Amino acid sequence: MAGSPLTIGVLALQGDVREHAALLAGLGADVVLVRRPEELVGVDGLVIPGGESSVIDKLSRIFGLREPIRAAIADGLPVYGTCAGLILLADEIEGAIDGQLTFGGLDVTVARNAFGGQVESFETELAVDGIDDAVAATFIRAPLITRVGPGATAIAALPDGGVVAVEQGNLLGTSFHPELNGETRLHERLLASARRRKAAMEA
Ligand code: GLN
Repeated sequence: MAGSPLTIGVLALQGDVREHAALLAGLGADVVLVRRPEELVGVDGLVIPGGESSVIDKLSRIFGLREPIRAAIADGLPVYGTCAGLILLADEIEGAIDGQLTFGGLDVTVARNAFGGQVESFETELAVDGIDDAVAATFIRAPLITRVGPGATAIAALPDGGVVAVEQGNLLGTSFHPELNGETRLHERLLASARRRKAAMEA
């Protein structure tokens, strides 16, 4: 990685925090586990891991992180959400529990648990726009992106056409977990956005 290391936060309220942290460290980033608003200050990018979106939502409110994260997204912070993290970045969700909120930012609708229960988990390889070879992807009680609004761009779909990855400005969301397959290229995409934004801010 050229230049000074990037500081990348991993929202560490619940979910597969460690896998993302290890992968990002392996890519040369300084990783900060974000549990409090102070830990969000100064990050160049943020990962919202998979887990249980309703729990992460609730804990983000309890820990005073909801508004700081929304403000950071509005301010253009590069954020990558996987699975539950994608749900949290979506402007609209289907199958939410009562009172469940999202941070929003991605002009999409996602359907929670669209592939059924835990037994319906599966691994596959996908073509992702902007990435040369097939991407290894694990789906675990994954959401499906059922509407892609004009602001967002679909960058990967399953063979049946179901959209499973989107990008919008500095926001990236995937229904699947690349971090469980040692697949680094989506995280590298986050790091590239973070590097560009940092350079623009320092210029
Ligand atoms: N089904 C979970 C949710 O709704 C997401 C599953 C995952 O992140 N692996 O939050």
